[in-house]
Amino acid sequence: MTSTHTDLPVAQFLGGDWVDSATTMPVHNPATGAQIATVADGDEATAIAALDAAAAAQADWAGTDPRHRSDILLRAFGLLHAETDRIARTITLEMGKPLAEARGEVGYGAEFLRWFAEEATRGSGAYFRAPSGGGRIAVRKQPVGPVFAITPWNFPLAMVTRKVAPALAAGCTVVLKPAPQTPLTALEFMRILVEAGVPPGVVNCVTTSRAPLVSAPIIADRRLRKLTFTGSTAVGRTLLTQAAQGVLRVSMELGGNAPFVVLESADLDKAVGGAVLAKLRNAGQACVAADRFLVHEALAAEFTERFLAAVSALPLGDGLDRSTRLGPVIDGAAVRRITALIDEAVDGGAHLHTVGPDIDRPGHFVRPAVLTDVDTRSRLWSSEVFGPVAAIRTFTDPAQALHLANDTDAGLAGYVFGENLGDTLEFAENLRTGMVGVNTGVISDPAAPFGGMKSSGLGREGGSTGLAEYQEMQYLAIAR
Ligand code: NAD
Repeated sequence: MTSTHTDLPVAQFLGGDWVDSATTMPVHNPATGAQIATVADGDEATAIAALDAAAAAQADWAGTDPRHRSDILLRAFGLLHAETDRIARTITLEMGKPLAEARGEVGYGAEFLRWFAEEATRGSGAYFRAPSGGGRIAVRKQPVGPVFAITPWNFPLAMVTRKVAPALAAGCTVVLKPAPQTPLTALEFMRILVEAGVPPGVVNCVTTSRAPLVSAPIIADRRLRKLTFTGSTAVGRTLLTQAAQGVLRVSMELGGNAPFVVLESADLDKAVGGAVLAKLRNAGQACVAADRFLVHEALAAEFTERFLAAVSALPLGDGLDRSTRLGPVIDGAAVRRITALIDEAVDGGAHLHTVGPDIDRPGHFVRPAVLTDVDTRSRLWSSEVFGPVAAIRTFTDPAQALHLANDTDAGLAGYVFGENLGDTLEFAENLRTGMVGVNTGVISDPAAPFGGMKSSGLGREGGSTGLAEYQEMQYLAIAR
């Protein structure tokens, strides 16, 4: 197994050892299409070896002092910061986002380590007299047990730390299966955890191109107690069905289809700035990306013109080039999928405003596009876009905008812009989404509960609830 770029780890990480595999898989740079590494391609045997290691380490890890676990997480936080340049470069190489965004992801991803290092030491429980007077009620928290974490490619570090940090803080051991497109960052993070002092078996990483083959036996194993998944809603549904057999604790962070609402009282500078961030960060490949723009009729022409101008000013290219502000999408299939969404919407009567010249370079690039008069029945409107394409509709009545905003099975993020505080907050409170940006296009914060309503998921990551997702409550009924 090899990496053509740096001394990146390319073997699997099982029970504290770097383990080679007979079968390998390639990793590509989406900005060039070039193969950058060959990594281990795990199978059923690797999956069970990883779970064996996690199960064997569980009792000892659960028995460590919270302060000890906290110190390890804080060391990992420091190490990640110290290696920002290297990790950011790895993220950009395998995923494509511009280096500045990759550095931002390292900061954001590392912050979960610090947050949960702090949360680990905040013991909580209860001890009180039973209302009937017959005895005492004591409630304690304990780790739920070995965790299986499956992560997507769009935030190769942050989606991993958002799960691994609270699991470790709570005293759970982990088997991680990163996305096949982005195994290198996950393996780098394993190296950092070892350096920080995580003992063998406590964290294990199986890289594989055969997700169902590796995941099914782990989920079916009675030693596993928790499944945490971030990815598409379709795969989430499949995994929920599998998890039902073992009645596993589950956390599901699934797809979104975020509305971005510009009320009549909005400040257009804020709204356009927020729209650029909420739509184009990560080339639109974020679960919280704004998809459906609902703009008040009175502001629509100016909003669209200024948004187009702002998008045109973003240099598109290889994320490793420091001037790039907009990188490629993940692969050729994504280019074809996004292009089809645009074509179908245009066939359905939408007006297309493209930005910049045709792209004539290798790699998986999509020219940013803004579409107006988009039919609500089009897939561009009704499904998650996951690309640098904005669909705009106008409204005059805020009640109509609210109806359209909520008229979807997804309920992850929403955005509302308005300077009339009362109306704007009321609109935000009525959005059926787990998170709402009010006059901001950036909502992710490790200290806040991240997650969705409706088919966008179950549970919350980050915040103080993020730790509880990895804890089990035990109640002791104490006789008088
Ligand atoms: P995906 O569902 O295709 O893959 C996610 C992960 O699941 C990958 O590791 C993949 O290998 C694995 N996987 C795929 N099929 C599997 C199966 N049958 N059994 C077990 N594992 C399987 O999603 P993706 O394309 O990697 O990521 C994009 C999706 O993730 C988008 O829908 C996006 O909205 C969502 N996402 C959600 C959040 C959130 O917090 N809600 C955050 C980031 C991404």
